[in-house]
Amino acid sequence: MDCVFCKIISGEISSKKVYEDEKILAFHDLDSKAPVHVLVIPKKHIVSVEKLSDCDQGLIGHVFLKIAIIARELGCNGGYRIVNNCGKLGGQTVNHLHFHILGGRAMSWPPG
Ligand code: AMP
Ligand code: ZN
Repeated sequence: MDCVFCKIISGEISSKKVYEDEKILAFHDLDSKAPVHVLVIPKKHIVSVEKLSDCDQGLIGHVFLKIAIIARELGCNGGYRIVNNCGKLGGQTVNHLHFHILGGRAMSWPPG
């Protein structure tokens, strides 16, 4: 499948991994927008939040529980932002579900 994140999961494309288990992978974003910028992805190829199904409930719960642990381990003690861009108008550029962890600086609101 021609999916950059599936290729990262398979090892065909290298990444700077910060966490991995049987269900998810977390790695540093190539084009970081904050001192901490990590992407957390399910190993299952799901295009976007829009394409989630009932059977993904446990997986998404797992993703969020691990996001909190990963952010803590990366030193985001004062807070951080979790971002999901969904679909073209949402700013999604990679069509494999992913959550950004952004931290290490104060975040502004609203995002652009
Ligand atoms: P989004 O715009 O929400 O779809 O986010 C996609 C993110 O993936 C962007 O922040 C890119 O910098 C990041 N990205 C794309 N290719 C790679 C890669 N090979 N390794 C790490 N991050 C990547
Ligand atoms: Zn994929």
